[in-house]
Amino acid sequence: MYLKYGGLMSRHHVVIIGSGFGGLFAAKALKKADVDVTIIARTSHHLFQPLLYQVATGILSDSEIAPSTREILKNQSNATVLLGLVEDIDTENKVVHWRNHNREMTTNYDSLIVAAGAGQSYFGNDQFATYAPGMKTIDDALELRARIFGAFELAELETNPAEIEKLLTFVVVGAGPTGVEMAGQIRELASHTLRKDFRNFDPRKARVILVDGAPHPLPPFGPELGEATRKSLEKLDVEMLMDTIVTDIDPEQVTVKNLKDGSEQVIPSVCKVWAAGVQGSPLGKIVAEKTGAELDRAGRVVVNPDLTAGNAQDVFIVGDLMFVPGVPGVAQGAIQSARFVADIIKSRIAGVAPKKEKFEYFDKGSMATISKFQAVMKMGKFKATGFIAWLAWCFLHLLYIAGFKAQLSTLLRWMISFLSNGRSARTTTNQQMVGRLALEQLGAGSSGKLLVNEMEETAAEDTEANPA
Ligand SMILES: Cc1cc2nc3c(=O)[nH]c(=O)nc-3n(C[C@H](O)[C@H](O)[C@H](O)COP(=O)(O)OP(=O)(O)OC[C@H]3O[C@@H](n4cnc5c(N)ncnc54)[C@H](O)[C@@H]3O)c2cc1C
Repeated sequence: MYLKYGGLMSRHHVVIIGSGFGGLFAAKALKKADVDVTIIARTSHHLFQPLLYQVATGILSDSEIAPSTREILKNQSNATVLLGLVEDIDTENKVVHWRNHNREMTTNYDSLIVAAGAGQSYFGNDQFATYAPGMKTIDDALELRARIFGAFELAELETNPAEIEKLLTFVVVGAGPTGVEMAGQIRELASHTLRKDFRNFDPRKARVILVDGAPHPLPPFGPELGEATRKSLEKLDVEMLMDTIVTDIDPEQVTVKNLKDGSEQVIPSVCKVWAAGVQGSPLGKIVAEKTGAELDRAGRVVVNPDLTAGNAQDVFIVGDLMFVPGVPGVAQGAIQSARFVADIIKSRIAGVAPKKEKFEYFDKGSMATISKFQAVMKMGKFKATGFIAWLAWCFLHLLYIAGFKAQLSTLLRWMISFLSNGRSARTTTNQQMVGRLALEQLGAGSSGKLLVNEMEETAAEDTEANPA
């Protein structure tokens, strides 16, 4: 029994870190269990990451894909939602250390589910992030939206043709589902949505370049669907640089190297998008150090068959932060692992055997959109491309958006966008565009640590390091 915000808790306490697919589905799966559930997440929303690219390109607004976690769980009386950044986990004393700005907190647990997901990996070149934002959070999507629409706005003011070309050259790095979707959408934006909006240049002349070290886009879908995707993208006028890696990025250009002949090319481009590589949350490293679990190369925790970490039987890792051979970093991996862990916890409390002792992933297939009315899908041996795949994609994505209101408004926005080429979420602000740079200058990153004393500390450290 322990104190929690003025109340005494006597039931088994499950603390969940993260409110993504893993965190939310774990909480929901514990709805009827005889436990208290506390979700601690650094955002107050549950993010539907698969549709981030539609926020970045003006189809959807952020609220459609990021409903409030608190609202989703308001009728689940055993669940408490707390906004905060977890910074440490004491697995010996079973305490989570976290903070909300300058308020430092600790929360005890009986069982801990770490569902902190993964961030973007720049493969050791973290400085690229400034010029080529990734696509993992609402902040990322809004920043990219501001950069994409902002590039067109700047081109309207420009008189130098070379500068206009640089502004209208969009480079997307990584030809997985996110990269393919982004490239297709920027192309549609330029060719259709913005076609009549500018007077100084023709938006249709914008270039969209997709770069990847693999020989074809969508490597996990196999060569056949990869080739079909390549053809569809080329038809849309996306320039495909396959077998090519990025070697440098700066504010004005991207340098790429062809892996086949070793040749280098410099592409002048102001707006770049990074959609390659994932890196497990830093909490993975903390858990690994405390429990003796191993990390894979992407910083994910190599979990035990029951998804516990190392020697800690009460610490579970689910979703993108876990490494289980053969389980991809997709929503279904997070949902299924979350439900599996919830069952283990319930069984332990009830003193009965769980439905399954070992986590087994059921592959329901993969899909990705290329553009309006075009997608690819793979379910076991069944493969489909084109309109049928696109319809299936729309249906399934709508199904998994949390909340009826968000589903309805997403459907309406899709109708506007798909039937008229219009995009109703084109609002951008200067703060969205420059916020990341401002935070970097403050030295506070984007972790939510922006608080008075910390800024003072950072300023003091800077002064010590660079005495005037
Ligand atoms: C752009 C994009 C497109 C995708 N498209 C698809 C798709 O089409 N189909 C598909 O199946 N999958 C897709 N995925 C993958 C899918 O979204 C992920 O597999 C899934 O979200 C993983 O869920 P998760 O709960 O493990 O992590 P996440 O959803 O990333 O959630 C992590 C949670 O942890 C919180 N958190 C992280 N660190 C801390 C901390 N220190 N303290 C407190 N809270 C913390 C975050 O705020 C967040 O709430 C896509 C992913 C991206 C990025």
